[in-house]
Amino acid sequence: MQKLKVLITVKTYPIPSAKYDELVCTAGVTESGDFIRLYPIRFRDLPYSQQYKKYQWVEVLAEKHTGRDVRKESFRPNEDSLKILGEPIGTQRGWAERAKYTLAKRAKSMEELYDQQKADRTSLGVIRPKRFLDIDISADDSEWKPQFLVALRQQRLWDDRTATQEPPRKVPWKFHYSFTCDDPRCNGNHRMMIEDWELGALYWRCIDNGDSPENAALKVKKKFFHEMCADTRDTHLFVGTVLEHGTWVVIGVFWPPKDHSSATGATLFNSPGS
Ligand SMILES: [Zn+2]
Repeated sequence: MQKLKVLITVKTYPIPSAKYDELVCTAGVTESGDFIRLYPIRFRDLPYSQQYKKYQWVEVLAEKHTGRDVRKESFRPNEDSLKILGEPIGTQRGWAERAKYTLAKRAKSMEELYDQQKADRTSLGVIRPKRFLDIDISADDSEWKPQFLVALRQQRLWDDRTATQEPPRKVPWKFHYSFTCDDPRCNGNHRMMIEDWELGALYWRCIDNGDSPENAALKVKKKFFHEMCADTRDTHLFVGTVLEHGTWVVIGVFWPPKDHSSATGATLFNSPGS
């Protein structure tokens, strides 16, 4: 076990899993900007005092994975040891304090990350796309796979902490970003699924406020494309690979205002969204 100090930058939407109960990918950076994945972690089951927010520093005992998860940055956390250190870092001065750690080890492009993945099993990164082209929305299953739910219920019968908790709701849509990178090798059309927890949370807020599934999906696109990728934003993507296939997905968005000097007024009145 080693003690890690991690600035949490990413939480993915929870997925029921036969092996680990319920999966959330939590990732962040160390003080030197190196990427760390804390996995598995049963975020919704943590006591409230341990439910960290994004851009909050945490300290946790963890060990390198052996066996199945060979991804370079993956650590298995001891959940009981998790401690939150102070308040989340805010968005003052154009997100400067967040950017200092988050962007310290920024990759030039997806192509560079593919190279690193081959070289040393890199599985996390942050990039600044050259241009965001679109978010496309496609219909997806409205329920989790039955074998996941059966496994989840069986585990919860034996676990006091989670016996009464409902499984996470399944978002019946898939959302993909398409974008280009600033790299001569770029084929100009990356299309990557978005697994950010905030996307699912926004979708269900809209549904709970009475929106139809179609309208809720459009509001998600409005936020994640038209607002977060607006010309006035210096938008970056947190990206990571899926354990089973090594496929890259978008796990979070970093969208500070572009012009830091004139941003002070804007950040006072706009919701920073994270
Ligand atoms: Zn590219």
